[in-house]
Amino acid sequence: MKIISSIAQMQSWSCRAHRQGKSIGFVPTMGCLHQGHLSLIRRSLKENDLTVVSIFVNPAQFGPGEDFKRYPRNFRRDSHLCRENGVDILFHPGVRAMYPDEYKTYVEVEGLSNVLCGVSRPGHFRGVSTVVLKLLQIVWPQRAYFGQKDAQQALVIRQMVKDLNLAVKIKILPIIRERDGLAMSSRNSYLDAGQRKEAIILYSALQTAVGMIKSGHRAPREIIARMREMISKTPGARIDYIKIVQSDSLKEASVIKGRLLIALAVYFGSTRLIDNLTIKV
Ligand code: AMP
Repeated sequence: MKIISSIAQMQSWSCRAHRQGKSIGFVPTMGCLHQGHLSLIRRSLKENDLTVVSIFVNPAQFGPGEDFKRYPRNFRRDSHLCRENGVDILFHPGVRAMYPDEYKTYVEVEGLSNVLCGVSRPGHFRGVSTVVLKLLQIVWPQRAYFGQKDAQQALVIRQMVKDLNLAVKIKILPIIRERDGLAMSSRNSYLDAGQRKEAIILYSALQTAVGMIKSGHRAPREIIARMREMISKTPGARIDYIKIVQSDSLKEASVIKGRLLIALAVYFGSTRLIDNLTIKV
């Protein structure tokens, strides 16, 4: 495995791979890799001749007062994991290289960016779409892999790729969970033992919602109220949002029908966790 930190070097490597007729799969991450990331990496290895993983904690997607500075970073462990799993290139650009002083261009996917997580994290998806577009321009992959864990992010990127006619196929893979149901996340490392136990409530609440839908409940408000009640009973949890939306438009569902995304964001102390389930009714 080769580690590349220069943008120009990454681009010329990709050019060479294209000239040789080799397909490139790309997995963008912010590092602190876990099984969720590895599921994307393994899929890319299966479907492409070459796999590039990027590790870049993107300042543009963190708001003021968010956890950019303390976001967990462990490059040694990450590079070891990538090498062990057969990754070809680990792309690790610096912040100054990606956003030099004179940096001025941002991409915004309208409509999908200002709901759900976009409400409490204004500017977050603008930062995400901008960095993903930059990375796609640098790595030039045929396929790029994202997790359903960040369902809204996946939709924003799909829309950007469609709107800007980018020649890359976006693949969205299922959420990988801990044994007890907690969705894997680099941010889980912020949780203390008590919070870690309490955080199981997120998946339980999502499953309760699915159970209610399966047993015939059709009023989103009732289902959300039940979820809210469950999570509110957990002493350390503070709800940011719980929503049931159309899974393609992210518009709030007025009735339980069609393809739906049940999504939530909940704080445990200062740690904000997100999770979701999709269901077709
Ligand atoms: P991050 O490093 O958190 O920016 O995540 C990088 C990619 O991994 C994103 O596409 C995430 O959606 C995906 N990802 C993160 N956690 C999980 C998970 N538990 N299961 C599947 N994919 C995940």
